[in-house]
Amino acid sequence: MKNQIVENVKPCCIFSYADAPTAIKHFEYEVLENFGKIVCNEDGTIKHYTYIWDRGGRSAVRCKKCGAVFVYQWTEFDGYYLGKSDEYYENYFLVKDLDEAILLNNNYSGFKLEMGFKGLKVWTIDDVWHWNKEDTK
Ligand SMILES: [Zn+2]
Repeated sequence: MKNQIVENVKPCCIFSYADAPTAIKHFEYEVLENFGKIVCNEDGTIKHYTYIWDRGGRSAVRCKKCGAVFVYQWTEFDGYYLGKSDEYYENYFLVKDLDEAILLNNNYSGFKLEMGFKGLKVWTIDDVWHWNKEDTK
């Protein structure tokens, strides 16, 4: 199967900022399509979840300034059972266009997308934003 994980896509304008936290502050986007929590097979059974932990979801969003499209994926981890506070994770995966976002949504679970995505991305762990801009030069 052809590798559908995105590479070599024109970067969004937010990647011109000095660091990821600054970029996110300036990131204005609109939602193109809400993919929801699950992707179903044709017979209605669940194909995969669009997130990793206890709650989450996925959508396609577009930068209002330059038109770049991202798959946005979020998930919330219930820390209660471990005596920890809840943790909230967000990811923006840069893709070529909406068609590619739909393709990734249909073919990759939340876990597979996070593990396998090779293109530019911005994500937060414990409210600190990171990106892989340096890694992908
Ligand atoms: Zn942009």
